[in-house]
Amino acid sequence: MKPIERDVIIVGAGPAGTICASYLAKAGTDVLILDKEVFPRDKACGDMITENVANHVAKLEAADKLDRMSVFMNQLLLVSGSGNEALVPFECYGTRRREFDQLMLETAQSWGAEFRAGCRVVGLIRERGAICGVRVVSGGIESELRCRVVIGADGAFSVTAKEAGLMKEAPEAMSIGMSAYFEGARFDRNIAIGQYSAYGTVFFDPGVAPGYIWAFPSGDGGVLRGHCNVGLVVDYTDGARPDSMDLEERIRQWLARSTRASSLLGSAQQITPWRRGKITYLTQNMKKTADGLILIGDAASVMEPLRGDGLSAAADSARAAADTAWEAMKQQNFTGEFLQQVYDANPIHKNPAALEDRLRHRRLIRETLHDPAAVDRAVEAIRKDQEVGKRLLKD
Ligand SMILES: Cc1cc2nc3c(=O)[nH]c(=O)nc-3n(C[C@H](O)[C@H](O)[C@H](O)COP(=O)(O)OP(=O)(O)OC[C@H]3O[C@@H](n4cnc5c(N)ncnc54)[C@H](O)[C@@H]3O)c2cc1C
Repeated sequence: MKPIERDVIIVGAGPAGTICASYLAKAGTDVLILDKEVFPRDKACGDMITENVANHVAKLEAADKLDRMSVFMNQLLLVSGSGNEALVPFECYGTRRREFDQLMLETAQSWGAEFRAGCRVVGLIRERGAICGVRVVSGGIESELRCRVVIGADGAFSVTAKEAGLMKEAPEAMSIGMSAYFEGARFDRNIAIGQYSAYGTVFFDPGVAPGYIWAFPSGDGGVLRGHCNVGLVVDYTDGARPDSMDLEERIRQWLARSTRASSLLGSAQQITPWRRGKITYLTQNMKKTADGLILIGDAASVMEPLRGDGLSAAADSARAAADTAWEAMKQQNFTGEFLQQVYDANPIHKNPAALEDRLRHRRLIRETLHDPAAVDRAVEAIRKDQEVGKRLLKD
């Protein structure tokens, strides 16, 4: 048997990987993070950082830095296809993902985690059936790294989940999304008072049904400089592969059609190319552990259906995995069964029994998004009674 080089190896330096690494390193664990990219790197995202994520950032003592690089939104403007509008209270940060992910990586390093960039994991090492390390390619050279626990945090196209045989491809549980940055957006100053009282807009355009388009101010100066994250999410529709959907054309048509969109973005410049990403929802309900392995974040499909705050679910799963790996090392038990048991028992998981309810809710809203008249009625109902909107966003 070859020597163990690390207690824990984390594959992927996205928020799931770096938050997990921070908790582990803070508790004194010897942890190595690997990523195929060189940081800072960008990622398709709406840049919406919800309160739960901010709470993790605060626990890891990086809240001041997050504040400085963000705009704070306290309302969402919902716009239906026919132009009906409703404002609903909703609090989140708008933080550029490139900067947020770099912040969380630096936070992990400040707690003592080691990071290797440009290191692509291509496979898992097994001994007597149990996972005990990873095969990596770096600078064209393949090598092996051994550890007690591998944490797979390598996102929606996870190699670790596939190699461990845990990834399920369930088209009904996926969406395709893309995002880009615009400069010079003109936020409605009757709604956005400034950097700490901004709003995001969600457009339910029939051209992207069942799905939606967002336009969120992002980063420091988001409102003042008109720095705006624009993107869309479309559910896989029956029989249609997302690759065949011309999403950029749909955005162009929406801009031409929507008065609110053209007043916001009509004189803005797109400053980055569209970046695509896949979203897999917890509807996949997949197993998250194998002997010697825990999956977290998008690699484990933990994202809540509908709300779109994958970062929140990623951060919670990162915390649960850090506690689980810690317990496994204490008890010297790395079996998949033990890891899953400890992971599931973590108090951070909110009411897992309500999963079926949330899935039913998702199916209902998905059906509504197919029907522009129904969306229009829903926006009208929210406009008349904000409680309806608050409930929708909370669930
Ligand atoms: C269009 C779009 C918009 C979104 N908007 C929001 C939003 O506004 N708010 C929100 O909360 N969530 C949003 N999400 C979801 C959110 O982006 C994800 O849930 C979140 O990034 C998950 O974090 P992660 O760390 O699990 O994965 P990732 O952020 O994808 O990080 C995975 C990391 O693993 C690395 N990696 C991958 N393969 C390998 C390999 N073989 N070897 C080494 N490294 C590897 C990658 O380079 C990457 O750095 C959005 C998603 C999409 C697609």
